[in-house]
Amino acid sequence: MRTLPAMNAERTTPSGRQRAPVVPLEAGAGPENPPCPACGEPLFGWIDLRPGLRGPVSRCESCGLGAVGEPGSVAEALAALDRLGDDSRIRIANRAGFAAWIGGAGWAGLEPESQFLFTVESVRRLVANRDQVVTNARWSPGAGIATMWQTVLNGFTFGRNVALAALGKGMGVPADRPWQRRLDALISVVVAVPAMLVAVPLELVAAALRRGAATSLRLKLL
Ligand SMILES: [Zn+2]
Repeated sequence: MRTLPAMNAERTTPSGRQRAPVVPLEAGAGPENPPCPACGEPLFGWIDLRPGLRGPVSRCESCGLGAVGEPGSVAEALAALDRLGDDSRIRIANRAGFAAWIGGAGWAGLEPESQFLFTVESVRRLVANRDQVVTNARWSPGAGIATMWQTVLNGFTFGRNVALAALGKGMGVPADRPWQRRLDALISVVVAVPAMLVAVPLELVAAALRRGAATSLRLKLL
């Protein structure tokens, strides 16, 4: 095992008591863990490469940002953010939300074109680079329930985001084989209502715990 020098620092408190070793996140930095574009802390692997994704997904343990494939630069992350709204109001699928946590690779916020998966904190860090602040962050009920619903449905289908794509909301990842695609269409219809009965209470609880699946943010120039 590699020794982490930081682990030996501050082993005791000023009163001489043993302190639990603290390993700073920087200790994990290296070629395998490139820096987070939002906050500079190392990114760690989250989801392996899946069909329809541009690469494996990593996430930041500090601000929560997710990166699909190469992490990219601050400018690229800001450009991706700007595509989610205008310069004063945006809506994100919340990577720190409960839906992302239970969904993992089946989280509906993980779309084929996604490169950055935002959280409120990562947006805060990113927009600070251009002297903006987040003045308001609130749960977006319609998008939140839709994301949670599709996340639940993804647990039953071969492809991903089949129902929302059929409804013209975002891009789906169809299954490989025609019979799987036909079955997915059928499953999406049959499971739609039961999945909604699960998704609505789940998302309401998530929102109450500030872990909703979609968040709208207001930005202001300082
Ligand atoms: Zn970060």
